[in-house]
Amino acid sequence: MEKVISFLLAITSALSYAGAAKQPNILFLFTDDHALKALSAYGGPLAKIAPTPHLDRLAKEGMLFEHCLVSNSICAPSRAVVLTGKYSHLNGQLTNKGSFDGSQQTAPKLLRAAGYQTAIVGKWHLKSTPTGFDHFEVLKGQGQYYNPMLITNGRNVNHTGYTTDIITDQALNWLKKRDIEKPFFLMCQHKAPHGRWEPALRHLNTFEETAIPEPPTLFDYYDGRSAASANHKMGIADDMGPHRLMFRYSSKFTPEQFKVFDGHFRPRNEALEKLNLRGRDRTRWNYQRYIKNYLRCVKAVDENVGRMLKFLDDSGLAKDTVVIYSSDQGFWLGEHGWFDKRWMYEESLHTPLLVRWPGVTKAGSTNDALVSNLDFSQTFLDIAGARIPGDMQGRSLTPLLRGKVPANWRKTHYYHYYEAGGHGVPIHYGVTNGRFKLIRFPDEKLNTWEFFDLKTDPMEMTSCYDDPKYKQPIADLKKELDRLRRKYLIRESN
Ligand code: CA
Repeated sequence: MEKVISFLLAITSALSYAGAAKQPNILFLFTDDHALKALSAYGGPLAKIAPTPHLDRLAKEGMLFEHCLVSNSICAPSRAVVLTGKYSHLNGQLTNKGSFDGSQQTAPKLLRAAGYQTAIVGKWHLKSTPTGFDHFEVLKGQGQYYNPMLITNGRNVNHTGYTTDIITDQALNWLKKRDIEKPFFLMCQHKAPHGRWEPALRHLNTFEETAIPEPPTLFDYYDGRSAASANHKMGIADDMGPHRLMFRYSSKFTPEQFKVFDGHFRPRNEALEKLNLRGRDRTRWNYQRYIKNYLRCVKAVDENVGRMLKFLDDSGLAKDTVVIYSSDQGFWLGEHGWFDKRWMYEESLHTPLLVRWPGVTKAGSTNDALVSNLDFSQTFLDIAGARIPGDMQGRSLTPLLRGKVPANWRKTHYYHYYEAGGHGVPIHYGVTNGRFKLIRFPDEKLNTWEFFDLKTDPMEMTSCYDDPKYKQPIADLKKELDRLRRKYLIRESN
């Protein structure tokens, strides 16, 4: 009986491919730590100063998602969620430690089975050897900004140049030599703009004469919230260290590169030492040094997205290719005095999501539904017309991309961070409905809750957990939190 059923399933699936429209190519452009505020299509005070025209083109020609929320705001876990469509406790990648279990079901494996040619070029960050790809060419660990080594189908290959450019070069090389009889699924994944932010030589002087506006919460005393945020170790004032501030460098440069790179930073660093800045003045200097280098790294990403889009145009592939741009999570650009991510607060919870699907998605459209990186796997499979396994935990975004948000679309989002102590951030989980947010810090020393009204307090400066005015919404969200934890199969020990 089982054999008959699987035979019938195989025939149905073959017929559905034959009967469906041509399977589109999928180009997944993914970056590391790209905050919404550093992508000009999302607006904000940096949009005019540091525009990202090529990324904005994707928004103009496709859909911009205003509320794409990650399920665990940190690098390796987010990547595992994107590959599996499952929360961290089920895909096994709870933190940046440990190695991804590549034997499990992933979207690339299923796309390959559905007739796609699959490749990943750039940052992998999951330690184990990539599985499910016809071609992989990945950085070891974090990689470096200059002269990267790329593990190329198991072989170590050294490259000379700027990593963001090289990842694009290699992705384009693969596209040019791919099997044109099959649709492709290419994950082109940049290291940038992850720290430590070493800009391309051509961008060292970009923003040099500009004072970047400070976020209103650059100086935050954390007094309106639980003890959790005050214990952070991600302060622009005290925690950046010499590598993040370019007093020391992380890349191994060639002598020629070093001459230009060090020639830029060394005299500026020496000038700073003479100024002997202290307190808020020094924090302000750190912020300018950090944000300029961060935005310079984003600029190289934007230029390289432009190169990919131009290739699609020139090769005639653009009309048959769905282009998706996202990042593994958001990032702090000085809000609350922070760099880094991890918290369930807005700036690290949100990640950019732009999708261009020619002939399907309305150009210049925006969508305000609560979507998540948990939805990406199912979206890839749905675009491909492939079967979506029942154990994936997100939902395909294709109805939204076609212009309709289903009536039963999620109204709340569950979040869970597990890497205890990383940059001083404790384990926490919570739920948001876009208007209110409830966060639980279960650690026995903290054992506390926070609750925010995002309408009256969008910068999340004051927890209203003890305010009687919010008794009902807090009770409602607690109930919802329990429901979601059961739905997503969270064990009590999680
Ligand atoms: Ca990241």
